[in-house]
Amino acid sequence: MGPTQKSTLQTLLSENRIFAPSADFVAQANFTDPGVYPTAFADPVEYWCSWAEMLDWFERWHTPLIWEKPFAQWFVGGKINACFNCLDRHVRAGRGDKLAFIAEGEPGDVRPVTYAEALVEVGKIANALKALGVKKGDRVCLYMPMVAELPLTMLACARIGAVHSVVFGGFSAESLHERINDAGAKALVTADGGFRRGAVVPLKRISDEALALGCPTIERVLVLERVHSHVLAATEAAKPVPDYDHGQWVEGRDVSWNALVPQQSPDCPCEPMDSEDPLFILYTSGSTGKPKGILHTTGGYLTQTYATAQMVFDLKDSDIYWCTADCGWVTGHSYIVYGPMQNGVTQVIYEGSPDTPDKDRFWQIIERHRVTILYTAPTAIRTFMKWGDEYPTRCDLTSLRLLGSVGEPINPEAWIWYHQTIGGERCPIVDTWWQTETGAIMISPLPGITKTKPGSATQPIPGIRAAILSEEGHDQTPVQGALGYMACAQEDSAPEHGPEVGGILAVTHPWPSMLRGIWGDPERYKQVYWSRFEDAYFPGDGAKVDSDGYFWLLGRIDDVMLVSGHNISTMEVESALVDHPSVAEAAVIGRTHELKGQAIAAFVILRAGAEPHEGLIDEIKAHVAQKIGALARPDDVFLAAELPKTRSGKIMRRLLRDVAEGRVLGDTTTLADPSVVAALKEKYEGQEG
Ligand code: ATP
Ligand code: MG
Repeated sequence: MGPTQKSTLQTLLSENRIFAPSADFVAQANFTDPGVYPTAFADPVEYWCSWAEMLDWFERWHTPLIWEKPFAQWFVGGKINACFNCLDRHVRAGRGDKLAFIAEGEPGDVRPVTYAEALVEVGKIANALKALGVKKGDRVCLYMPMVAELPLTMLACARIGAVHSVVFGGFSAESLHERINDAGAKALVTADGGFRRGAVVPLKRISDEALALGCPTIERVLVLERVHSHVLAATEAAKPVPDYDHGQWVEGRDVSWNALVPQQSPDCPCEPMDSEDPLFILYTSGSTGKPKGILHTTGGYLTQTYATAQMVFDLKDSDIYWCTADCGWVTGHSYIVYGPMQNGVTQVIYEGSPDTPDKDRFWQIIERHRVTILYTAPTAIRTFMKWGDEYPTRCDLTSLRLLGSVGEPINPEAWIWYHQTIGGERCPIVDTWWQTETGAIMISPLPGITKTKPGSATQPIPGIRAAILSEEGHDQTPVQGALGYMACAQEDSAPEHGPEVGGILAVTHPWPSMLRGIWGDPERYKQVYWSRFEDAYFPGDGAKVDSDGYFWLLGRIDDVMLVSGHNISTMEVESALVDHPSVAEAAVIGRTHELKGQAIAAFVILRAGAEPHEGLIDEIKAHVAQKIGALARPDDVFLAAELPKTRSGKIMRRLLRDVAEGRVLGDTTTLADPSVVAALKEKYEGQEG
């Protein structure tokens, strides 16, 4: 153990609470035998083959894995179609009448879509794309609101072998332009608009702006009449649609969805795709810099999304599952479209914001549709904490049986709030660690097996081998963890929460849904992910492991601070801050300090009702010192109204470092609201000194 790791030990936030799945949950769970861990660990390839067997292949693979580091091929020689596995196979098995989607629009419109209806509509969309000249291997960019047509268009692309690249509908024209050109997309599918916070997001107008910047590969633009159709359908009681900019119709380029799609034949054969044919490109959220076009292929991706959706979410025929992500993020790809739909589940999708018309919208949706499984992000959970308990407590949330979290480390206090206030202390929480690059969940509890600890994503799922390595690449993981053996889950008595070791997360064996590259840039792929360690994939996240072999993900390595020679993770200081009763959310950064190397600066948002009073700042600083140690006591605490976040809701610490160090702000194009950081900068400079 090197000196930096030793010092890390002294400054860890300790979290000792342990939650076992309830007897009721275990009694009905799909997976309850911890024996799956050692079995899968012993032969991961064989384990994944057993899952691949459950999918419908046109032709079976001849070789499960060809691994020529860093390039993997899974289920080589197999022929398969993603859309077939999401739709046709359920309809053929007589499950066509089952609801695939309950799609709720922000204005309140609700559209149920069965699997049979989805199949008909996808066939028509696929034929429409063909009519526009889209062929197998062509890239299609989707810039759409979160309505049923978005996942259906993704499936239509998959049906004909076109590669979709979904760009989140909150991105700007420049971001869209950059992503269209990077992927070389031939067609763009967009909409006249989508509803967000009671207003219309003018997607067509923004598309026009993006194309005006120069997108030479785009031939046709298909425009869904989301807003127009809504206006036609609106009853007198419905609120009028606010004015919005429709953009400019370009004859010969732009095509109306209503004029083209409904008249198509619903019959469109599924293209038999090679297991390693591309399925989609997706750009990462850009927390660290220029987004990367992550490439995923077909057979392995389908296998791991199918398996993890079933294992981690304990999916049942009776479930109403709701993942609150947008299809513009990988979570929407893997845990709205491909994972849940291959499992034939019924799911809610929602177009708009969580505070329209009021801050209880999510809880209203859960009550209205009797949602059983909720999968959301820590940023949302912390926002709900900030708004206060009155919103969830006025709705009936008793239908919920399982909760999930993804996107950032979840601070233990946010975990506890989620568990108590949303889950009524009855729902297991699955904290799922994964990335756009990993394609599917990698580290997570299995809800019928794993004892959970707030803030820990627990252990690699069966079939995944991961480890915490030291700076020098030495394995720090205790043997039990490395064997994927659930010591914690097997013992009746609560296990000890032993000493932790800090390090860097690594994935030590290829997995089916791993990225196959960065689109158009194999060198960057090697350099970013495969140059840090000799034999393992480098995700870029810091982590620690405790004596039970539990993994604690600490966020990006770049966010770890070095204070007076001690490594301190921003996530742990943030968790100590959020633990203070007045604090809802916090972002911590290290700013350059002459003597200490780095000094800790914290930006803090108070909970609703918590008034800033004299002494509060000192009280908050003291709270951190008491939770973690004097070393972690923040030098500065600033009260903020908002924090700069990416459009997927992640805190962008690099911009806060710019603010704290008085620098010109770096790239802000992936920010959800650039004015937040500008306001913060002004306020910060005012408070200083
Ligand atoms: P970019 O790579 O462009 O900077 P990004 O990493 O935010 O963007 P994503 O692929 O959407 O893009 O996010 C993956 C990252 O999110 C992980 O590497 C990790 O830092 C964080 N993350 C996701 N889930 C968890 C989790 N359950 N616990 C801790 N961190 C998580
Ligand atoms: Mg990343």
